[in-house]
Amino acid sequence: MTDLAGRVALVTGASRGIGRAIALALGEAGAAVAVNYVERAADAEAVAGAIRQAGHAALAVKADVSRSADVTDMVHKVEAALGPIDILVNNAGIGIMRGLDDLTEADFDRTIAVNLKSAFLCTQAVLPGMRARSFGRIVNISSGAARGAGMVGAHYNASKAGMEGLTRGYAARLAKEGITVNNVAPSLIDTDMIGARRAEVAARIPVGRLGTSEEVAQATLMVIGNAYMTGQTVQTNGGLHFN
Ligand code: NAP
Repeated sequence: MTDLAGRVALVTGASRGIGRAIALALGEAGAAVAVNYVERAADAEAVAGAIRQAGHAALAVKADVSRSADVTDMVHKVEAALGPIDILVNNAGIGIMRGLDDLTEADFDRTIAVNLKSAFLCTQAVLPGMRARSFGRIVNISSGAARGAGMVGAHYNASKAGMEGLTRGYAARLAKEGITVNNVAPSLIDTDMIGARRAEVAARIPVGRLGTSEEVAQATLMVIGNAYMTGQTVQTNGGLHFN
């Protein structure tokens, strides 16, 4: 496992699901971890508590990552408590299920703001420090829906495809500065986002089951440990597609 002792990580949307597993894995690897959430304070505190119990620093930090002022405030709090941020995992996201006829402008705007603009805001906020120290690892949790159609809707496809574009744009411009930017693209992971459709969804996956948040966390840690991999998308999808 990559040794992340002395590193500081911020994981957005880490109170539950995939973000929680990534935060715990970063803690296990020795990093100090900031556990962002928007509503579920107790869940985020529990994740931070588990990391502290394992002997590493951690902080639960509330912010709606679609809001610039919240992101600025979050990054200040994390840096004051844990130190400069070396690792950013843009994981927070929403999947509002909509068909063609019931998709509204408000759904579209909220999805783009939470899933895509948030990654831009958080990246911009941590980049000056990473560039000053010539080290950074940024992992964007996109989705198989960036390239496939998926179940959620066209607004979700657009937000996740945009995230992959953002990744390439930053990766190309930061490669010479010791900062890598990659996507991990899960498909059909057993979290609250899948809701009640677990069995129906699992039947569609070649390996015959949903993925686990820990499997996505493992791919994320692999990417963080690799200094030569940048601008890439790693699919964790049980063989659903092979692009
Ligand atoms: P989840 O279980 O629904 O958890 C979502 C997390 O995001 C929670 O921690 C939530 O915080 C946080 N969050 C939501 N809106 C936020 C905001 N505005 N600001 C800050 N935090 C916010 O979701 P998940 O399944 O773990 O998904 C995590 C990421 O993986 C998402 O980007 C999702 O699109 C992507 N993904 C998931 C799947 C899948 O099959 N599950 C597949 C492909 C991609 P609170 O707990 O405080 O509400």
